[in-house]
Amino acid sequence: MATAQYIKKDGIIIIGAGLCGSLLGIRLAQRGYEVHIYESRPDMRKAKIDGGRSINLALSDRGIKALELIGMQHVVERDGIPLYGRMIHPAEGEATYMPYSGRSGEAIHSISRGGLNKSLLEETEKYPNIHLYFNQRCVDVNFDEHNIRFENGKGGEQYTLECERILATDGAGSAVRRAMMRHTTEKRFNFSQDFLTHGYKELSIPAADEKGNFRIEKNALHIWPRGTQMLIALPNLGGSFTVTLFQDFEGPDGFNALNTPEKIHSFFDKYYPSAKANMPDLVNDFLTNPSANLGTIKCYPWQINHFSLLMGDAAHAIVPFYGQGMNCAFEDVCVLDDLMDQNGDNWVEIFDRFQENRKPDGDAIADLAVDNFYEMRTSTTSLLFQRKKALETKMEQAGLPYFSKYALVTFRPDLKYREALVRGRLQDDFLLEYCKTVTDINQVDYVQLQADVEAYIKTALQKSEIY
Ligand SMILES: Cc1cc2nc3c(=O)[nH]c(=O)nc-3n(C[C@H](O)[C@H](O)[C@H](O)COP(=O)(O)OP(=O)(O)OC[C@H]3O[C@@H](n4cnc5c(N)ncnc54)[C@H](O)[C@@H]3O)c2cc1C
Repeated sequence: MATAQYIKKDGIIIIGAGLCGSLLGIRLAQRGYEVHIYESRPDMRKAKIDGGRSINLALSDRGIKALELIGMQHVVERDGIPLYGRMIHPAEGEATYMPYSGRSGEAIHSISRGGLNKSLLEETEKYPNIHLYFNQRCVDVNFDEHNIRFENGKGGEQYTLECERILATDGAGSAVRRAMMRHTTEKRFNFSQDFLTHGYKELSIPAADEKGNFRIEKNALHIWPRGTQMLIALPNLGGSFTVTLFQDFEGPDGFNALNTPEKIHSFFDKYYPSAKANMPDLVNDFLTNPSANLGTIKCYPWQINHFSLLMGDAAHAIVPFYGQGMNCAFEDVCVLDDLMDQNGDNWVEIFDRFQENRKPDGDAIADLAVDNFYEMRTSTTSLLFQRKKALETKMEQAGLPYFSKYALVTFRPDLKYREALVRGRLQDDFLLEYCKTVTDINQVDYVQLQADVEAYIKTALQKSEIY
């Protein structure tokens, strides 16, 4: 093993140059730190992204706030496609459009995951104090002696680096978190991993023509809800859509059973004929692309010995149904940045405050994301849900200070996720009960309704200790 090298006192090691790590690196460099980012994969500025597939994500206000922090908000308009609502494709009948909000201009943005990561890495080139090391996999961390072991290339030589502190943004399968677990007895490290029985598979709808026209509505997130499963589609620049099937692994229609072209055809003919009509590469995509797991990872503490801190998916990996994983990881950087404003170079305070402040929000968005799984695959087709949504849209259109649960999570970066969860769930409880008594939503006095919702929330909060 090569001798340990020492990273200078004002240097910080970031593990993982994914979405969170590269944005974090830029912010720390802007604050004057020497930043060393170690990434296990090859440099995506040179290598092909996602094996040639187009994988996109929904970027929303919390993520945009972090991009603004580092001066990269221009990528939203340049590389994103605004989505103003959901297009629901029922099993029978016409598709219906549900706006995300009654206020004009509130949208989420479909953006290429690899493209965004690449843009962030390109941005690092502006900072001479950012040093990137690719094909370097973190394999262990010694929290007492403040050093990290890396492997140079797959199966390559291992070496050790000493440093003052590391920020671990190495994703849901975090090696740093695994090393923290090995420290478990002394530090009482808690860890839970909850898989859904469902997994996901990425498929595609190609562009309508060479001019890059779209085959289905461009500015909407398409959902084909089918009770125990669903299909969604988000647009890409160039006219294609990334389609994701969320389905159980087991059972007669499960991923494991859909293993021949005939079975895939008959499954899509049965559940998703309107989508299938636009998926000429369906069978090849289905048989070639992997079916991947979906799960929630919670852990605590997020820091050990004020030497290493988990951020992004390494600290809180969530299921993708609120489109918030990356947004939450980006927001982590804003929270850390605020703490640096308040505490200067006092990293003991910064690490402690970060985990205390942020853990309830990580848990909240994890729980909200699971809620939304059930809402998207079933409730979007229920009449009660549709009536509630229509009422909420009317209140928002009327200019009232009302935000649906979705809007609180997605368009209110000034609110913590935990506050959005508490308020959003109370609003939903009230409105779902109220909707059972409403026959014509046009007869509703929205000003009064909004006041009643507020009063209900106030009473509920006074009665309980949920805040
Ligand atoms: C199907 C799906 C859809 C999603 N849709 C959305 C969405 O619409 N909106 C949204 O906000 N989020 C979405 N997400 C979540 C989002 O992808 C993640 O939350 C986000 O990528 C987290 O960023 P990160 O930087 O923490 O982790 P990652 O992006 O996973 O980056 C981790 C980096 O660390 C590197 N690394 C890993 N191990 C090591 C090691 N040992 N040593 C060195 N480097 C290492 C990896 O190569 C990678 O580059 C979705 C996720 C999935 C699975």
